[in-house]
Amino acid sequence: MQKQNLLDEKGKKGRVWYNSLAMDIRKFVRPNIVSLSAYEAREIPCRVKLDANESPYGFSEALLAVKSLKTNRYPDPEAKELRKLIAKDLRTRPENILQGNGSDELISYLITTFGGPVLYPVPTFSMYGIISQALGERSVGIPLDEEFDLDLKPMLSAIHKYRPKIIFLSSPNNPTGNCFSSEKILKILEASGSTSLVVVDEAYQAFAGNKSFVRLIDDSGNLLVMRTLSKVGLAALRVGFLITKKEIIREVNKIRLPFNLNSFSQAIACKALKNGKLLKQHVQSVIEERGILFRELSKIRQVTPFPSDANFILFRVKEPDRIYRDLLKMGVLLRNMNGAVAGCLRVTVGTKKENTIFLAALKRIMKGEAGAQ
Ligand code: PMP
Repeated sequence: MQKQNLLDEKGKKGRVWYNSLAMDIRKFVRPNIVSLSAYEAREIPCRVKLDANESPYGFSEALLAVKSLKTNRYPDPEAKELRKLIAKDLRTRPENILQGNGSDELISYLITTFGGPVLYPVPTFSMYGIISQALGERSVGIPLDEEFDLDLKPMLSAIHKYRPKIIFLSSPNNPTGNCFSSEKILKILEASGSTSLVVVDEAYQAFAGNKSFVRLIDDSGNLLVMRTLSKVGLAALRVGFLITKKEIIREVNKIRLPFNLNSFSQAIACKALKNGKLLKQHVQSVIEERGILFRELSKIRQVTPFPSDANFILFRVKEPDRIYRDLLKMGVLLRNMNGAVAGCLRVTVGTKKENTIFLAALKRIMKGEAGAQ
């Protein structure tokens, strides 16, 4: 460590300080954080962005809602209007809704409030594991079965063995795209009734028809449903919410940061939600395009797409890393899932034009006409 002298105002040597360049900052970091890698959320330049499960359609007219906002005032700490609108939409009550700065924040709040162990199937949304580790809680991942559905027997034995405080079930699941069998989720809810909270993460529910667990909230003591506006055209706002019993919300509210959802996001989200018809039209277009994209992918030799209830499709290819890179060279950005699901890439459903560009590029690569030259 290097010693240096600080000069006072008159240029005389003053206090001694130590040059921090020579110091290893990792010595100060908690052991569970040292081994953690940051969540990969880089902006990669591209022509067609199909990597982050965003909607291809935005709500620019909802931006008008911020015109009358007072920038000198804190946001409504209870997000009253937003919670009221969400509750109306879901046929529940505002006291059963808790707002988050994206559902990422809510995952963090839940693990902070209830602790671990945290149980989830794998592969699934990586933030359950990352946040558990960041908060120093044990996490347990149980592999899905070969159909990407919950493997009930090992899930139930893990509940018995580890007594998890929280179980996260992303249904539809990211990155596989399918909904888990409702019967299996119900069995997990039942088996863990007195030991665990079960969070059904319905981030992609809008694209899955009627399959939702919201209506079971009143009858189930340990069920929480998590939703987000990020996938339906409002990712910029960071609005997520939990639907659950008010007794559970009361506990999580103790650690929620007082102004966790800013005024701009609240106002724009309210405006967009009031235009429910447009929101539904956008979702419907994505569902239609998903069908076309799936059929077209199925026709390409050596490409195996998996059926999806979400706004993305997972597909298997022989050389995922090379194909990912070749697509990017042609301006098309996907998510390389090869680390989590062997041989797989994930494509978000875009506009018709974006999907056509992607399919044309993939076809050329698969025929050996483009890419790796
Ligand atoms: N849950 C799942 C299953 C997701 O895929 C994502 C986003 N990729 C989230 C939660 C986080 O969403 P938000 O933008 O609301 O933080």
